[in-house]
Amino acid sequence: MDALVKFSLDELEKYVENMGEKKFRAKQLFSWIYSKSVSNFDLMSDINKDFREKLKNCAVILDTKIKKKQVSSDGTIKYLIEFSDGNCAECVLMRFDNRSNLSACVSSQVGCYMGCDFCATAKRGFVRNLEPYEILSQILTIQQDTGLKITNVVFMGQGEPLNNYDNVCEAIERINKYLNIGIRRITISTCGIAPKIKQLCEMELVPTLAISLHCADSNTRRQIMPVENKYNLDELKKSLIYYCDKTGKRVTLEYVLIGGLTDTKEMAQKLCDYINDLKCNINLIPYNPIGVDKYKKPTKKDIMIFKYLLESQGKKVTVRLERGADIDAACGQLAGKI
Ligand code: SAH
Repeated sequence: MDALVKFSLDELEKYVENMGEKKFRAKQLFSWIYSKSVSNFDLMSDINKDFREKLKNCAVILDTKIKKKQVSSDGTIKYLIEFSDGNCAECVLMRFDNRSNLSACVSSQVGCYMGCDFCATAKRGFVRNLEPYEILSQILTIQQDTGLKITNVVFMGQGEPLNNYDNVCEAIERINKYLNIGIRRITISTCGIAPKIKQLCEMELVPTLAISLHCADSNTRRQIMPVENKYNLDELKKSLIYYCDKTGKRVTLEYVLIGGLTDTKEMAQKLCDYINDLKCNINLIPYNPIGVDKYKKPTKKDIMIFKYLLESQGKKVTVRLERGADIDAACGQLAGKI
């Protein structure tokens, strides 16, 4: 069976022509798959019955399955998606109150090899990269399951997107073109692969960038994020300034507040110094426990003080809500366990 989500529009046109159909059928199929997000051929009412039957014999829309689905009390939905080879990865639908945004948090790899010490995905090691269509399949699964149209995509699920660079760029192009999601509404989150951040700036459409900074002290960062040994804070900063200059956009800095380690007044000052000349927003993420109790959650008081210290120096700061914490769908908790 051929999964139609694998094909670009050109490829699908050839495919339907090979089946003896007119080229324009591909556009019709595309619209059913991406705009209307139907899950079976019988719902494609402007496609004649004969062709639908032929399609059923040789093709499917997606070759992925929902292995598990959990709905959080705050409305966040987490899906465990099984790919055709049996591997699984998670994606999450997030809704934010008072906004019309519907965000899909997608995975770019099965597992991850960056080894961040506080992250559940890292603990399970690396399995493989996801193909562009496997990234799209996650979004389409959410759309099919809810009947809603995704408006924003964030690469903040499992994996390091910049370690699967070509596939992620191809997926971004298709998300933009086929799902009609503006490039500003597509965000890549990276632990800081500096050369790839520079390379990203050469794309025709450059996505929004979020950096998992988490600490602005090199020695401490090295303890929790091995990537600091390869691309240290200085080098990372150069790539961020390059991104801002080249694109005119701001970057978002994600900062996990770990109790007693990254949430101190001293660390807040180091962060202020580090971002002194950088156009950025800061998103503070209270550490979400992942089962091993090496790290602590920050106290409410320490979160407040940390935020205040940044704001009093003119920085733009938000604290990320712990969405989906009750279903292990909060930041860093995606491990794909079954
Ligand atoms: N590899 C990419 C994409 C993962 S995004 C990256 O590093 O950005 C997932 C986000 O959740 C990252 O910012 C990650 O550092 C953060 N995270 C990981 N474990 C966490 C935890 N236990 N608590 C809070 N945030 C965590």
